[in-house]
Amino acid sequence: MSFLDSLYKEIILDHYKNPRNRGEIAGALHQEGLNPSCGDELELFLAIDEDRIEDVKFTGEGCAISQSSASMMTQAIKGKTLKEALEISRKFKDMIQGKPAAEELGDLQLLQGISKLHARVKCATLAWVTLEQALKSVEEAPKIS
Ligand code: ZN
Repeated sequence: MSFLDSLYKEIILDHYKNPRNRGEIAGALHQEGLNPSCGDELELFLAIDEDRIEDVKFTGEGCAISQSSASMMTQAIKGKTLKEALEISRKFKDMIQGKPAAEELGDLQLLQGISKLHARVKCATLAWVTLEQALKSVEEAPKIS
């Protein structure tokens, strides 16, 4: 096993066993995500101030890849603007679909190997697809000003 392979497994297991930003945010925007092909479930909570993600938490259950990807995502998007978060999401999905990893992805680049595990692509992207659905509902909501 190469160094990167073992680092990848270590990071996934670490986030799976000790998920970051796990929990709920009362009254916040929330969105459910499902990956029926694997049985992964996710609920994402986003506290948005103006156009910035002030806080983000998630709950859910499923395979290690789906849950660790969600945990890593919350770290990557917390404090970012909606536009920046969508940009990270696009780059992550590109990478998982086999394109070269963007440097801005940081630790998320370690998940690049999943692009070769076809059955797990939906596990890795579940959190990101759920995020995009949630942010879409923000864009479509009437603005109060
Ligand atoms: Zn899964």
